[in-house]
Amino acid sequence: MDFQTPPATAAILQRIREFLARHVLPQEAAILRRGFGESHDDLQKLRAEVKAAGLWGPQLATSLGGLGLPLLDHGLVSEVLGYSPLGHYLFGCQAPDAGNIEILEKHGTDEQKTAYLGPLAAGEIRSCFAMTEPDSAGSNPTLLSCAARREGAHYVIDGRKWFTSSADGAAFSIVMAITDPSADRHSRATMIIVPTGTPGFRLVRNIPIFGHAGSGYDSHAEIAFDRCKVPISNRLGPEGMGFVIAQERLGPGRIHHCMRWLGICRRAFDMLCDRANRRLLAPDKRLADKQIIQAWIAECKAKIEAARLLTLHAAWTIDNHGFEAAREQVSLIKFYVAEVMGEVLDRSIQAHGALGITDDTVLSFFYTRERGARIYDGPDEVHKMVVARRILRAYQPQSDSEPAQ
Ligand SMILES: Cc1cc2nc3c(=O)[nH]c(=O)nc-3n(C[C@H](O)[C@H](O)[C@H](O)COP(=O)(O)OP(=O)(O)OC[C@H]3O[C@@H](n4cnc5c(N)ncnc54)[C@H](O)[C@@H]3O)c2cc1C
Repeated sequence: MDFQTPPATAAILQRIREFLARHVLPQEAAILRRGFGESHDDLQKLRAEVKAAGLWGPQLATSLGGLGLPLLDHGLVSEVLGYSPLGHYLFGCQAPDAGNIEILEKHGTDEQKTAYLGPLAAGEIRSCFAMTEPDSAGSNPTLLSCAARREGAHYVIDGRKWFTSSADGAAFSIVMAITDPSADRHSRATMIIVPTGTPGFRLVRNIPIFGHAGSGYDSHAEIAFDRCKVPISNRLGPEGMGFVIAQERLGPGRIHHCMRWLGICRRAFDMLCDRANRRLLAPDKRLADKQIIQAWIAECKAKIEAARLLTLHAAWTIDNHGFEAAREQVSLIKFYVAEVMGEVLDRSIQAHGALGITDDTVLSFFYTRERGARIYDGPDEVHKMVVARRILRAYQPQSDSEPAQ
């Protein structure tokens, strides 16, 4: 196993770091203060500069105008971009669009690719993914109730979704709906593309999270479908394959998320160390001179490095042996990296004192927006259960005579 960054990727990483330092970080606080919705024009200007610099779409195939990086290399890019809350959006590799691009590329018809994939990959439109519902446990999506019934050449969709990220301003949603309630639990649901302007599609609200409803890309919506009618040709993939396609979407997405979280860890860690060195507790005593702060710094460093190696290993396994071989590793990183990110952010906030809980630094943005990391794409507890079950299977006694020592 070799995690040495290939020279071509190292050069891209360096250029992205420089771009972030020169063009993004100086504007970041002002853009976040105004919100994504109000900052639309500034964000589009920055996106145009990213494209002009030849850095757009690190994960996108070159045929879609991207850099075509494999998973491990894109993971490294994702880590660098995670340093700023604007990074992924500006470089065209933001969730949920990145996942939607993947499934449109793999399962979309030629018409769907022309109408949705091309403009989405080019950053001309945005999309959302509507699976979770307020009234059933998202951790077990086989309980979904939003239904799509056939009427002639159309599907008619009725139901309610929530936590549909980035629905505000999206051009279309990929909706997971039950098409055959009598089928096997895992074959009941189908993915359907619903343009957000379709009659019967209603964005009820952007859900306030820790006091912020957000706007535009930075938001999570509640959506109502009320006799929302779309042609059957809007189906993405075969009927009943919704869950299978959703799993494909989640695999690489978890690596991208974890590497992004590691970028957030780095930002919070840099801020922790900088604050410790600068803050004077007495004329001759810095925060950094206190042993407890030194312990936090050493512990955070160890955890970030451990989380990073676990994640790179999982990406390497997927690149070299396929997703099935990495199933346990992906569950491990999903909960471990999310926990490490929460801890590093919390330490950094604590070291900043009252300033840490204000909106005057980026820490509060990360802290409120990223708490959800331990819930989406499978809550921590579900991933821990998956890992533990697989481990315990290996310890299954062959006979009851020889207990393990
Ligand atoms: C920031 C954010 C963005 C999101 N974006 C999207 C999106 O774009 N599209 C979309 O469709 N959904 C999205 N979601 C929803 C997300 O997928 C669900 O919240 C998630 O699947 C959990 O479902 P739930 O909220 O219904 O919690 P529940 O399923 O009700 O679970 C509640 C809690 O119960 C515990 N639990 C659950 N199952 C088990 C188990 N088997 N064993 C032990 N404990 C368990 C966990 O602690 C869990 O947090 C997003 C969520 C967040 C927070």
